[in-house]
Amino acid sequence: MSVFRFAGRTARMENPIIRQLLKLGQREGVISLAGGIPAAETFPVPEIAEASRKALERLGSAALQYSPTEGLAPLREYIARRRGVAPEQVLVTSGSQQGLDLIGRVFLDEGDAVLVERPTYMGALQAWNVYDARYREVPTDSGGLVPEALPEEPVKLAYVLPNFQNPTGSLLPEARREAVLAWARERGVLVAEDDPYGHLYFGDPPPASLQRRWPEGVLYLGTFSKIVAPGLRMGYVIGPEEVIHALAQAKQAADLHSQAFGQAILAELAEAGVIERQEERTRNLYRARAEKLLALLEAHMPEGVRWAPPHGGMFVWLTLPEGVDTLALFERAVEQGVAYVPGPVFAATGGLANALRLTFVSVPEEQMEEGVRRLAAVLEKALAA
Ligand code: PMP
Repeated sequence: MSVFRFAGRTARMENPIIRQLLKLGQREGVISLAGGIPAAETFPVPEIAEASRKALERLGSAALQYSPTEGLAPLREYIARRRGVAPEQVLVTSGSQQGLDLIGRVFLDEGDAVLVERPTYMGALQAWNVYDARYREVPTDSGGLVPEALPEEPVKLAYVLPNFQNPTGSLLPEARREAVLAWARERGVLVAEDDPYGHLYFGDPPPASLQRRWPEGVLYLGTFSKIVAPGLRMGYVIGPEEVIHALAQAKQAADLHSQAFGQAILAELAEAGVIERQEERTRNLYRARAEKLLALLEAHMPEGVRWAPPHGGMFVWLTLPEGVDTLALFERAVEQGVAYVPGPVFAATGGLANALRLTFVSVPEEQMEEGVRRLAAVLEKALAA
């Protein structure tokens, strides 16, 4: 008899599709338009070397000691200043992914209903599946979630990605922000606002956050992953003090605190103005790459494939005619030397087979055209069948 009698929730952590996909897409010779990772050439390596030296010089062994669960004071203060809140409203987390998990721990009982966009970020589903969340989906269009389609009945939590959504790249306009909040206020629904891409705008900066509009009802998730480097695993949650306290208790049980040295490095980068510089550099680079990918799609994609140009972020979402199955097509695409992320990965309750996500940031620029050509050929064949 096996001694490994797994808890019931362990089975819900499995995501066989994603794991298999990631492996397949890494095959030699495959041009991956599937990545969900930042362009590595944006990472400020020499600046981080300098900030590390300074952090050790300034803090000495304190940079390597246990530290407060809520986060190092200089970093909390920087985040608070940038977001216009009090430092006590900030909890530093190990990436915003941990923020999603902590919100699940603190707020979700078994079977609680969570409102998610359709499509939505798969990592949030993965985080909340553990707590046996039930999902209610709200449809989206090129302007993000459609407020008219919000359900009458309340849910426990509403998960919203207003800025350059993963996977669609959509931006939620001002009026829709207000409409979502009116809906949530009326029903007493807690809102989790996930905003990893807000600094990566290609035109004007996005409208004010949901958190700023309704500080009593919104938890804001931010991250340094897309602007500095994801390997630092540094993010944060902003919310009312009472909630930050509860989330900090949950975090303490999970990992005591996010690594002090990484936080000290970020505080040094902030002081040296590197973070703001990174924001500008990264958005300029991504804007150029997005334009390039969009021009290639325009030139090569067969009739019947549609997309909305993203206003920021890292992704473009392609929609194909009903009946095309991007999951079933994936192996053929890899055989033809190109990878993407099939739509169903982003569906909380199944479907979305006729869609796929492409990135324009982590594919080497000189491979982008060949990647799009290969994908267009695969799709053309599927459309003709
Ligand atoms: N939310 C969204 C929408 C994301 O796209 C990502 C990263 N892919 C995360 C959260 C998690 O990011 P991190 O934990 O690195 O901050």
